[in-house]
Parts: sequence; C-alpha cells; structure tokens
Amino acid sequence: MTFPLTHFHELDTPFYYYDLDCLRETLSTIQRCTADRPDFHVHYAIKANANPRLLQIIQEAGLGADCVSGGEVEAALAQGFPADRIVFAGVGKTDREIRLALQAGIHSFNVESLPELEAIHELATAMGKKARVAFRINPNVDAHTHAKITTGLNENKFGLALEDCLPAIRRAEALEGVEYVGLHFHIGSQITELEPFEALCARINDLQDELEAAGIQTPNINVGGGLGIDYEAPDENPIPNFEGYFATFASHLRLRPGQQLHFELGRSVVAACGTLIARTLYVKQGHEKQFVIVDAGFTDLVRPAMYGSHHFTQNLSAKDEGELQRYDVVGPICESSDVFSKDELLPPTRRGDFIAFRSAGAYGEVMASQYNLRRLPAAYFSDELA
Ligand SMILES: *Cc1c(COP(=O)(O)O)cnc(C)c1O
Repeated sequence: MTFPLTHFHELDTPFYYYDLDCLRETLSTIQRCTADRPDFHVHYAIKANANPRLLQIIQEAGLGADCVSGGEVEAALAQGFPADRIVFAGVGKTDREIRLALQAGIHSFNVESLPELEAIHELATAMGKKARVAFRINPNVDAHTHAKITTGLNENKFGLALEDCLPAIRRAEALEGVEYVGLHFHIGSQITELEPFEALCARINDLQDELEAAGIQTPNINVGGGLGIDYEAPDENPIPNFEGYFATFASHLRLRPGQQLHFELGRSVVAACGTLIARTLYVKQGHEKQFVIVDAGFTDLVRPAMYGSHHFTQNLSAKDEGELQRYDVVGPICESSDVFSKDELLPPTRRGDFIAFRSAGAYGEVMASQYNLRRLPAAYFSDELA
C-alpha cells in the first residue's frame, strides 16, 4: 500500500486513511469465491466499521448487512442495503430496536434467549406482523482466539446452548407472532486457522440430523463471521484467506436441498483498507527506554489497549538512514494503557514524522471515543487525496 504523503502534510492528525482499491479488491475476491454458489449469502458485519462511504461501496458490491443494534439497522437502510438482506443479532435488543426492525421488514432476527423470543412475539403481534426468527446457538467450539473475542463457548453470554435448541424451536412454532426460519452461529473473531470452522460444520451437521429426525425444516443456516487477517504482514497478505474459508463450508457443511447459507464477515472485509495516521509529537529518551509519543491514542484506536493487539507500525517519513531503534510507541492520553506497542523497531524517528498503524479498518474508527475531550479522528479516502 502506498500513502499520499504530500497530501498528508496538509491535514490535521490523527486521521483514518482508507485505500478504496484495497477494499474493492477484497470485495471482488469475495464475489469471485462465491460466484458459483447462489445459495451463499455474504453479509457485512457493520459493527466492524460503519463509515457511510465504506458502507456504500460494500452495499454496491451486493453484500447484505449484519447488525447488532437499531442504529446499525438504520445505518444499513440509509446506505441502501435492502431490508430483506439485513439480519439483526445481539443479546440485549430493546423494544424500540425490535419495532424498528419489524417496521423495516428485515430478513430475520438472530434470537439469543427465550425471553427475547417472547418479547419479539408480543411486539410483532401488537404490530400485526410475524417476525422471522433464527436461533443463535452456542456450538461450544473453541475458536483459539483472544479470550475477549471468543464467543462460541458455553461460558459466553451469547446464544442458546445446543440442548436448548429443540425446545426453543418448539416454542417458536407455538407462537403466532414469530416464524422459525433458521439457525445462527458465531464462534469468535480473528480466527486464522480453518479448523475451528470445520469443527463448527461438524456441530451443525449433528444438530441438523437431530432436528430433521424431529421433523423440523431449517431454511437458513448462518455461520457468522470471524475470519482473521494477517496483522503482521499487511503488504504481503492484504487479502484474507476467503478461498479456504468458503471452501471449508462448501466441503464440510451438509446443506439440505434448497437450504441457504449465510455469512457475516466484518474484520476480513474492512481491516486491511484502513490505516490510522498519526504525527510524532516528541521522541523522549527515558533511562531504560525511548518513547515515540504520537498524537493518536486509544481514543482513536482502542484495540491495543483493549485486546492487547498489535498493529504493524511504520514510520512513513523516515529516510533510509541509521540503524533501526527500539521505541515504545505511545499516545498522549492520561492512562498507562495508552500504548500502541513496546519495543517497536523503527528507523530513527523525529518530531513531525508520520506514523502509520496498519490494518486499522476494522474495530478502529467505529470504536473511537472522546475521552479526555479529544476530537474524533477524521476519515479520508484514497480517491480524494490522489
Ligand atoms: C462481530 C460479529 C460478526 C463479525 O465478526 P468478524 O470477526 O469481524 O468477522 C459477525 N456476526 C456477529 C453476530 C457478530 O457479533
């Protein structure tokens, strides 16, 4: 990826820079990998990045939307995602959010508990509607990812346990205001091996056999998102392993005739195209460390502080001079967790140098806050700065 440095000099930092060619290439890879499978439906998980410009491009590429709040349903509709390609998950949907989604006529609710099912039934009945519901099932598959982003274990708050699935479907069949349309799973995020997805397929196959034996038809299977990206080598591997990912489901999941398979990809769609650009404010010589203090902090990109993540870091201004130095790269916020990385190897860095935190397109801008009364980061696009 190249960066328009001359334009950067005219801009206030920190800001997000989005490379739209990278996004389009990612989207066309997804299209190519699913082209011969009209029964595969890819939804974009809006929570990864809700920037309107990106949503517009993703919508134009034909993806549906996976939402986890009423605000996301509204954002999806505003950017032209067709209502019948919107799915809505979340353990704590409010009455207002449920009504909004019913009014819009979304494809389905991913229901995460029995009390939620009853609430949706009541609200839909009051509106004279029937809500299409899928049950989010916790398949108890270990995604071998960070504890804060694994979701498919029984200890997590998400979804219904496998053994509670059949009774939940029976309850839905008995309720006027809802229609059972599918099963939903989501095992976690930043999953870079394909084995957890194979394990998920095996669980779904067993569950389907059981449900079929009970005479239950399931029109839709939704396997969630979670495909990981290569954070350490963004230029070598800009496109995630979509080919292996879709092939895993094609070969391991036993779909029934006419059954539709849905995916909800977030990070793998938008992470690579986004970079957080900061300026170096000061280089501080400590007694045991040297610090590069930049003008971006965890209010702009919270992943390092929240998940202990590392973003590949570059000094965009450095000339090829001098040996690499070890720096702790830190932000200005008054919290000791405001650290992007420790012992980062960078060329000799000076005040004013641009620092790039790569692969920040997912769970970056959308998680920004105004803590310390900081300004929210701006966003610029490659076609505006060309
Ligand atoms: C977060 C989330 C996703 C997207 O996860 P990624 O790891 O970004 O692909 C998909 N589905 C649900 C229900 C989610 O909560």
